[in-house]
Amino acid sequence: MSLTGMVYRPPYEANSLLLQVTQGCSHNKCTFCSMYPDVPFTVCPMEQVEADIEEATSNCPDVERVFLEHGDAFVLSADRLIQIADAIHARLPQVKTIAMYASIQNIRQKTDAELRRLHECGIGGLDIGVESGLDAALKYMNKGHTAEEAKEQLLRLTDAGIEYSFNAILGCGGAELWRENADATAALINAVQPHLLFIGTLHAEPGCRLYQDMKSGVFKECTFGQLLDEQERLIRGLELKDTIYFGSHPSNIVPMQGRLPDHKQEMIEVVCKKREQLRQHLDEYPQRGGEGSILNR
Ligand code: SF4
Repeated sequence: MSLTGMVYRPPYEANSLLLQVTQGCSHNKCTFCSMYPDVPFTVCPMEQVEADIEEATSNCPDVERVFLEHGDAFVLSADRLIQIADAIHARLPQVKTIAMYASIQNIRQKTDAELRRLHECGIGGLDIGVESGLDAALKYMNKGHTAEEAKEQLLRLTDAGIEYSFNAILGCGGAELWRENADATAALINAVQPHLLFIGTLHAEPGCRLYQDMKSGVFKECTFGQLLDEQERLIRGLELKDTIYFGSHPSNIVPMQGRLPDHKQEMIEVVCKKREQLRQHLDEYPQRGGEGSILNR
């Protein structure tokens, strides 16, 4: 299996077959991102993809889920994605879902009919970095979409039957806009009712613009207290019918998982308890290690 460069995948894809179909990210300019700084975006030749699928028939013939790499594989045309899906199903008949990272722009480029065709051939479980529902935060983070555009495209996915993870980042609005970020993000999540909500917390690695802006003070990051207040405000604002809340990313002050609406009160209580535990440190800033893990929690 030939996977080139740094390989990222969502934590819940740990048992999936990782199949490279692109290299890098077609957008590659989010302010906080340092995933593929020097990797020019390219599409892998179909012969290489087919050879990797063939290899998987010996290594993991019973695999049920495939995750297409790299940064936004959903940028591929519907025809190419269907060609890949057909090749997977022909050689790995147990595969039920073909998941991948996707952006709002990737969805916009596809027609409703194409989205339905993609759903019919097992494409789903898209992992989408929406990040925020606040336009000021989206603009600074250079996501290339507004909240209204995200809403429109995510509703198109739902209409086509495609499930996805809505990825949101606490702290995206910084110290000045954490309340607005919580409220606008909750409103967007409520409007689209995602199957899965993946919550992380803003952090920056050397090499991205956010890192420089944090160092120079252009971007004022949130303290422990502000991040906990934002998380509580976000959860309180969520009015969901049936969504899995996945918040176990190491960047979070309070790692937690649950199902909404069932666990809403419990989750709020966990955040409040953590705030009480950290009451001497609420004005401090998280110190971070690999993957944004908090070292001074
Ligand atoms: S879309 Fe994803 S991989 Fe691409 S630059 Fe933004 S965060 Fe990084």
